[in-house]
Amino acid sequence: MWLFEPLTGEQLVTGDDAQLHMSPQGLALSRAGEVAADVSAAVADYQELSEVTMKGGRRVRLQLSFTDGRRPWRLRGVPRPHGQWALYTIEGYQKLLAWASTDEATKPLEFDTIAGCIERYADDLPLLGNLLIAQAVAHGASDMDLEPAGDIYGLRYRIDGGVFPVAKLPAATAERLVRMLKNQARLQSHRSDVTQEGRIRLYPAAGPVDLRLTVMPGVAGEKVNVRLLNPATQLFGLDQLGMTQQQAEQMKALLARPTGAVLLCGPGGAGKTTTIYAALSSLAAQDATRTIATIENPVEFDLDGIAQTQIGPQLDFSAALSVLLRQDPGVVMVGEIRDPQTAQIAMRAGMTGQLLLTTVHAGGPELVIPRLLDLDVEPYMVSSALAAIVSQRLVRKVCAACAGAYQPTAEEMAALGLSSADLSGANLQTGNGCPACHNTGYRGRTGIFDTVLTDEDIRSLIMARDMQALRARLTSDGLRAAAIEKVKAGVTDIAEAIRVVGAAQ
Ligand SMILES: [Zn+2]
Repeated sequence: MWLFEPLTGEQLVTGDDAQLHMSPQGLALSRAGEVAADVSAAVADYQELSEVTMKGGRRVRLQLSFTDGRRPWRLRGVPRPHGQWALYTIEGYQKLLAWASTDEATKPLEFDTIAGCIERYADDLPLLGNLLIAQAVAHGASDMDLEPAGDIYGLRYRIDGGVFPVAKLPAATAERLVRMLKNQARLQSHRSDVTQEGRIRLYPAAGPVDLRLTVMPGVAGEKVNVRLLNPATQLFGLDQLGMTQQQAEQMKALLARPTGAVLLCGPGGAGKTTTIYAALSSLAAQDATRTIATIENPVEFDLDGIAQTQIGPQLDFSAALSVLLRQDPGVVMVGEIRDPQTAQIAMRAGMTGQLLLTTVHAGGPELVIPRLLDLDVEPYMVSSALAAIVSQRLVRKVCAACAGAYQPTAEEMAALGLSSADLSGANLQTGNGCPACHNTGYRGRTGIFDTVLTDEDIRSLIMARDMQALRARLTSDGLRAAAIEKVKAGVTDIAEAIRVVGAAQ
């Protein structure tokens, strides 16, 4: 079920110590700390609730438990009118429950229709908030942005790496919405002069969705980014990332190694985190005897069977890694290597006793080794620890609803260094644009990969610090070839391949 639970810290009640259990099956109430053993046998009604709250006069503690494993809501009372609160809460909850099965909650709507709903729900914040998030999920968005501009806020979804303006909200409505989001994420809702970051977990029927809320102060008002971390759509298996059969096998072989460093490289938004999570999930599923630990900033998904640590102001990557290594895990994942200390500790671990998985923010594979050397990792350490460099990009997939055959132009062919013979027998497809893909011709994304295993040749080039020869060995040709394969299979089109991997030299 969907919830921005229709409760905030401001809507509490006075009364005796009491417990309220609220579930789709009904309401149950117990008094003076005694918890009802059987919720369904002790169904309370509004009348009963207001009786309890009327009798009191001091503080009340309410605990609302759920049958679906969600954490209970625990509320401590601030004096407020009570019966009214209970009525609002219960009716709001039931209304949300009913709404959660409508098209508005489950199917992608036209942006114009969403704009209409925003107007209709301006006076019902929980419903409005749920609508915007539910629609972001339904559209497969990775982010929802709210940005102030004068007396309106622009609402945008980011879908497959593109930004789509959805609607405009009156500033007054948007500000109330932002305050509610901040409350839900347990941020300081009264402060709008500092950057804040928090989390909200929602429980729609399809499985939990985590929201990471970032609020930035600005001249015109607060700018809000909601990142949607939806395990159902983002936690993939190794076989679902877009790798070829051979690449997936290669990755599994790398993951079976007892030691060594596997470095994922690519620019931001290239899908590195998704791949590394897929690798960790596959490791955890395959071999329960290997201990797996991660250091991340932030932890994006909770992974079963893996000890995850999030770094923070008091704990940086290198300090966390040093502590972690004393516990001698079998596999270590470091979210990103960007400082010399972390680089050195991590590569030493990969050299001596651990399988190290990490990402390097580098445009191309040829930049990874110079980057490590720049971080003062000794060449011998890089050369002996480095098992493989895996490069990754995301390409948009041709929209299945409007796909059709096409003939690439001579310029497009030349850009990828292709001849007509190269494309003989290929199933070239491109999207013509339709409502399903917001007229972009693309829907969804998939990864393209290139894995370079470290061989003797590369090792000796690293030892010799021969950057020129390393650049020649570690080109982006593999990624280009991977993109061309996806073009030939009709998964993506040639324009997208050129956009992502660039023209051949
Ligand atoms: Zn389409």
